[in-house]
Amino acid sequence: KTDLSKANIERLLNEAYTKFKDVKEGKNADYIKELANVDPNIFGIALVTTDGTVYTKGDISSMVSIQSVSKVFVMAQVLEELGPQAVQDKIGVDATGMRFNSIVAVELQKGKEINPMVNPGAIAATSLVAGADSAAKWKSILQKQSDFAGRQLTVNQPVYISEAGDNLRNQAIAHLLLAYGRMYFDPVQSTDIYTKQCAINVNAKDLATMAATLANGGINPVTKKKVVTPQTVQYTLPVMATAGLYDDSGIWYYNSGLPAKSGVGGGLLAVCPGKFGIAVVSPPLDAAGNSVKAQKVIKYVVDQLKVDPFLIE
Ligand code: GLU
Repeated sequence: KTDLSKANIERLLNEAYTKFKDVKEGKNADYIKELANVDPNIFGIALVTTDGTVYTKGDISSMVSIQSVSKVFVMAQVLEELGPQAVQDKIGVDATGMRFNSIVAVELQKGKEINPMVNPGAIAATSLVAGADSAAKWKSILQKQSDFAGRQLTVNQPVYISEAGDNLRNQAIAHLLLAYGRMYFDPVQSTDIYTKQCAINVNAKDLATMAATLANGGINPVTKKKVVTPQTVQYTLPVMATAGLYDDSGIWYYNSGLPAKSGVGGGLLAVCPGKFGIAVVSPPLDAAGNSVKAQKVIKYVVDQLKVDPFLIE
């Protein structure tokens, strides 16, 4: 039986922290130069329930760049603005089965078999966000990510500058999508906004609150702000489930049953619908690009709480 009492959650987070804090596997991402300089020992855990109770353990003051986790909330923003059919038709919602920044994935099906959790679909989603110009689009993206987190988020400038000077591959993806009629704003500016959105600074508590807002049907359980509709959440979670952890999305879903999203900054969040959001920040990644400790902690907590939705007892 699921025991979401305060005592039990606190006990589990403490246990998970102690059990996994000395894990040394994995390595910071270094293809974005600034990420290689982040302290690999940052280790923070947070769980936020749908009644707005916040639990934290470890380091929740250190910030990492949100990276790919931002994709979830831009997708939600586009769903909110244009609806599920438009996201399916204009971007796509199928797992690519290829690396997150695969150009082949775009080329094979002329930009159709992609989704908002991988770079091509994410840059397309960013290009679809409403706004008269690049500045307006960016302002509204930052606002939406902040609403999910329940506080004003800001950009890690060194990370943004480091990636902006080195994102030719993402620019190529944006241009290829444009060639196939599947980029909806200037490709250079869209890639730039996307790069900035990836550089937003967050801690584990921010990420857990963002996840909890999804778990709570789109209402931030801490601030009580209605950020998106339940329908938006309904269509966001399945894409997280099928494509949230790069090439290991299937392995993750098989083992946890929970929609989740990772980023190369070391953040990982998971959504337990109706119950809670959980997130861990720990920069060292495995070969697929997912935080090693974060996967272990969340899997442990999900198992102990028996909240895998496919566990029917
Ligand atoms: N900004 C990164 C990129 O586009 C995000 C990658 C990620 O977290 O998966 O390469």
